[in-house]
Amino acid sequence: MTPPTDIKTIGVFGGTFDPIHNGHLAIAEFVRLKLSLDRVIFVVANDQWLRKYPPEASATDRFKMVELAVKNRTYFSASNVDIVRHGHTYTIDTLRDLHAQLGDSVVMKLIIGTDAANSFHQWKCVEEIQSFATVVVVGRPAIRVNSPLLGSDLDIDIQMEYLEGPMVDVSATMIRNFNKCHKQIEKLTTQAVTDYIKTKGLYLE
Ligand code: ATP
Repeated sequence: MTPPTDIKTIGVFGGTFDPIHNGHLAIAEFVRLKLSLDRVIFVVANDQWLRKYPPEASATDRFKMVELAVKNRTYFSASNVDIVRHGHTYTIDTLRDLHAQLGDSVVMKLIIGTDAANSFHQWKCVEEIQSFATVVVVGRPAIRVNSPLLGSDLDIDIQMEYLEGPMVDVSATMIRNFNKCHKQIEKLTTQAVTDYIKTKGLYLE
């Protein structure tokens, strides 16, 4: 990725993106506007160590779908920094690598959903993550954030900014399940991503 020259505040939005969907795009745009971000970088995880099951699509396909979804959206871009690094994906490594690419003058905001926020206290190097980026939690339907409470029970100082957000009730699981049952997925993600899923025969039994 070429280091941007004129960018000051960046949203870092990591995920498995198996596949990327309208919920991801809606919260990224919401946070971008709310916090006046210059750009949101979608960082595709190689292997989320906390995830209970492996992704169904390859890292290459997941990255390609993110590229398709952000194409023609001026303020969004895709990063494969976690895929290139290989192995388990830890957010602290993502932030270190992006900081090295982008430089000291860039302020990073780490965007996570409430489910991710609730496991945040288990992440590797929580304090160091917070020294690299402000953590911004965005609401997700039916998942309440309890991380600050969990954090206060532990010997870790967790500071999170909470934004309610657009509350879009879509998940990647929903898309994978719908596609397996031959239910329409067009309204859940972009047309280009839908076409990619169909063409490549992803998310079938
Ligand atoms: P899966 O259903 O496979 O678990 P997912 O829809 O949760 O996938 P991920 O790629 O795992 O998607 O999520 C990446 C990040 O986006 C996480 O921080 C997650 O909390 C957040 N996120 C995903 N979907 C939404 C949504 N609809 N609203 C708010 N946040 C979301």
